[in-house]
Amino acid sequence: MNIILLGPPGAGKGTQAQFLVEERGMVQLSTGDMLREAKSSGTEMGKRVAEVMDRGELVTDEIVIGLIREKLETVDAPGFIFDGFPRTLPQADALGELLKEMGRTLDKVIELKVDDEILVGRIVNRAKEAAAAGKPVRADDNEDSLRVRLGAYYKQTSPLVGYYWAKGQYQSTDGMAAMDDVRKGVAELLDS
Ligand code: AMP
Repeated sequence: MNIILLGPPGAGKGTQAQFLVEERGMVQLSTGDMLREAKSSGTEMGKRVAEVMDRGELVTDEIVIGLIREKLETVDAPGFIFDGFPRTLPQADALGELLKEMGRTLDKVIELKVDDEILVGRIVNRAKEAAAAGKPVRADDNEDSLRVRLGAYYKQTSPLVGYYWAKGQYQSTDGMAAMDDVRKGVAELLDS
């Protein structure tokens, strides 16, 4: 089963993806993680995207589609969880084509719905907790970048709701419930 976890920054996509990795042996493909890895290892591409990411804007479709293509061509898995990808309509089209080429299907698109005020609080907390634990704080986990990231979500990513709804693949669950209840909500949708 291949699924997309959709939702704004701070919705809990990464946390829920981790549960699915542990419980179902699926493989998480997070373009955010791939880009941060490229950034920290100082590759040419990492250097090119660093400023854009730090500002909270989206990097080009070409780059992220290339990253996903490479993973799909080299990693074998019983199922993929696309986390933070696709984020634009061209990315959604490209994912459809890539999966088709590989004889795979996209089974479900699950949106984690969370109100904006809660997102801001979660991101600010994430930064504080990382700092307190002596871990690196994401350069885009601050209020200015978050505003840009939310803007990008509503402008460029939220049209995917209609796109997948029209294909009969869209479902949503309450992402504001307790973490374990969100996990159950996602599981129910996957098993329905
Ligand atoms: P994330 O970890 O998913 O919140 O992504 C962090 C940042 O990486 C985003 O704010 C974008 O700058 C970039 N990014 C991640 N995934 C994508 C994508 N699918 N398309 C464009 N930019 C992306």
